Amino acid sequence: MKMSIGTGFARVRSFLRRGLQGPQSLAFLPAIVLAAFWIGGEPFLIFTALGAPFLYLLASGPSGRAAEEEPAKQASDVVDMAAARSLAQNALDRAKAANLATACMLVELDGLDDSAQMAGDGTVDTLRELALSRLRNTLRRDDIALRMGDRRFLLLLGPSLRLDLEALLQLASRLQNAVEEPAAVENSMRYMSASIGFCAGVRLPATATGAQMLEAAQVALSEAVANGPSAIRAWSEHMRMAHSEQKTLRSEVDRALASGQIQPWFQPQVCTSTGRISGVEALARWIHPTRGIVPPGQFLRVLEDSGRMERLSEVILQHSLTALRSWDSAGLDIPRVSVNFSDPELRDPRLVERIQWELDRFGLTPQRLGIEVLETVIAGSPEGVVARNIVELGKLGCHIDLDDFGTGHASITSLRRFKVHRLKIDRSFVTRIDRDEEQHRMLAAVLGMADRLGLETLAEGVESVGEHALLAQLGCDHVQGFGIARPMPADQLVDWANQHANRIAEAQKLGRGSA
Ligand code: C2E
Ligand code: CA
Ligand code: CA
Repeated sequence: MKMSIGTGFARVRSFLRRGLQGPQSLAFLPAIVLAAFWIGGEPFLIFTALGAPFLYLLASGPSGRAAEEEPAKQASDVVDMAAARSLAQNALDRAKAANLATACMLVELDGLDDSAQMAGDGTVDTLRELALSRLRNTLRRDDIALRMGDRRFLLLLGPSLRLDLEALLQLASRLQNAVEEPAAVENSMRYMSASIGFCAGVRLPATATGAQMLEAAQVALSEAVANGPSAIRAWSEHMRMAHSEQKTLRSEVDRALASGQIQPWFQPQVCTSTGRISGVEALARWIHPTRGIVPPGQFLRVLEDSGRMERLSEVILQHSLTALRSWDSAGLDIPRVSVNFSDPELRDPRLVERIQWELDRFGLTPQRLGIEVLETVIAGSPEGVVARNIVELGKLGCHIDLDDFGTGHASITSLRRFKVHRLKIDRSFVTRIDRDEEQHRMLAAVLGMADRLGLETLAEGVESVGEHALLAQLGCDHVQGFGIARPMPADQLVDWANQHANRIAEAQKLGRGSA
């Protein structure tokens, strides 16, 4: 096989670069020169003293850092899934033969899209190549780094003695830092962020294949990307089980939405001064044929990942308005039903039109509907569709509730701008207020502020009679929580509301005034 002078020079330089990484390697220069004198006398000393810096310059490339910013382009850097599986198998086989460890890492560039839009395809290509060369420069000689798809890189670590969780987390963090260094491309600074998922070979069963190691790294990467940008996740057995459960739910979700398996349950909200029901919150439940009642924490992400949040809001709204009509017909006094609207649901440009149409269809006034928006959504000062929808729904006459208040940083200006009616104080500020002095002071301050701003208040997660009583004393307008009632199906609410009305009447008879 012939090798051109240029290729030979590049190979020598690549070898030296791995051996002499960074200016710190020059610290060994005096020791090298002394050793040369000891071995070969004066001629050797002169040769080494002049030659070693030359070798260092050669290793650093034509202009030091500039060389790092100039990635080598090779078509063979890109692998498909089949090739990636066989490389992973190879890595496992080598490690097993040497009785050493290996690991598979996947790196995904999170932040490349923005740069791509701003600067065009040429810049994207350069950044991608640069990311690959930075990954390679951070790895050892025995490791492999290749591109897999547009924004993803496959790393397979050569056999090594210590590749435990801690060592791999440290390596992942070094790789991430290297990729995320600002890059000068075509006279502008560009910024990339990377998420990393990895699987240590030792975490897998002894019989695991390369394909399984790769798949485990993919699961870890999808978890990292979901928590990103710039997150790192290690694969674990627990992660595998959660992932496969989510996959099963994903395959069932469309049918569940269409067949009414996903529906709201309702949790009452009570006025602290009269004890009467002031509203109910609609909380999604999946009545699963085999798993029983699945709470939203387990399926909202599935809906989000499969782009079904808009459909969820349609389903919950229809069920909620149907329930409100049926309670009206049963002679109950339920002033309002509140529905949760997450960020993706608020992005629907037809949301206001759709809600108005549904209200008309059910013959209900907008005042009967509450819109719960998370404080974090409002605190992000949304522009465009999200902001317009909240403002328009407020104008229509719907009540705007600021959910999980205290967990975001909504400004007073944004409370005004979005015409917020009520603060729903997050459960974390309510728990144990009757027993924790500091919690008590904090809540009193929040209630005082809301009062001065003319906002109604509701305390979430009220679990005990003590908390309920103290909240009433502090002037909180409404309470909601397991201490009053757990969320329940629409028909059960009829019985609960009747019993609650009886309890109030009894209490009034006894002269206590409130339930
Ligand atoms: P959230 O809006 O803050 O709802 C309150 C959550 O606290 C509910 O959990 C409720 O069951 C629970 N909870 C109520 N009282 C108590 C209490 O006294 N103690 C404790 N420990 N918990 C209490 P859930 O139903 O599991 O809902 C969780 C979250 O899922 C909700 O938090 C909301 O953000 C979201 N979610 C629920 N339904 C929907 C929906 O239809 N659409 C959207 N976008 N999000 C929903
Ligand atoms: Ca809520
Ligand atoms: Ca809440």
